[in-house]
Amino acid sequence: MAIRIALITGANKGIGLETARQLGKQGVSVLIGARDEAKGKAAADALKAQGVDAKVIVIDVSKRDSIAAAVARVEKEYGRLDILVNNAATLNYATDGAASSAGDGVLRETFETNFFALVNVTQAFLPLLKKSSGARIVNLSSILGSIAEHADPNSPIYPMKFTAYDCSKAAVNMFTNHLAHELKNTKIKVNAAHPGWVKTDMGGPEAPMEIVDGAKTSVALATLDDTGPSGGFFHLGVHMRW
Ligand code: NDP
Repeated sequence: MAIRIALITGANKGIGLETARQLGKQGVSVLIGARDEAKGKAAADALKAQGVDAKVIVIDVSKRDSIAAAVARVEKEYGRLDILVNNAATLNYATDGAASSAGDGVLRETFETNFFALVNVTQAFLPLLKKSSGARIVNLSSILGSIAEHADPNSPIYPMKFTAYDCSKAAVNMFTNHLAHELKNTKIKVNAAHPGWVKTDMGGPEAPMEIVDGAKTSVALATLDDTGPSGGFFHLGVHMRW
């Protein structure tokens, strides 16, 4: 079987870096997407030292020209893309919060990175993903994007209302559903992932999950076989409520 090529956005640290490491350990060639080349190179070098075939690729997901340059490079070097993990995202704890006061600034900045950028990256790479014999797209969502969880007083996340972030991830879920529907008669599978509450810069030190476990959902969805699901929202193999 040919070596699979994976691009993980926001892979210079956190869940993205660990996703790259775990995919690399399975023999996938990983492209470490990073907006800061030096940080991405350091991450790729660390993975290479562990025997992973890793390269940095500069991609600021919120900049169209940066996305276009990344697409051009992957096309030139590989002619296709097998796995796209849309992992990069932001949560601005200082300005995000209640629905009545979520400002235009935090709403737009958060949607720019978490939703519009994810859509732009996916659409830009779709022609290369269609050249794969069975591409996988993994969109990092969150349990915080689930309307069903937010509406359930018994849900652990019921009181956690980060309006801009939560709305952006709900939009990611809907985009995942719509793209999977459009591609249902192709060999491309598109799924959304909830990694868990994970100890990263975003998740914070109080999070119960270690990074090694936080990457498992993305890795599983990135390596689904041809019988696997498409258009779902998963955490560690369990379907999440939308
Ligand atoms: P981190 O904050 O640790 O890492 C976020 C990554 O995204 C960084 O590499 C960051 O790059 C990158 N990034 C942000 N904006 C851009 C941009 N415009 N262009 C390119 N890269 C960008 O987050 P996590 O590892 O915790 O989160 C990974 C994913 O998992 C996210 O989608 C998050 O929403 C989701 N998630 C995380 C949870 C958790 O508990 N940690 C829970 C649920 C979902 P830089 O270093 O340059 O800032």
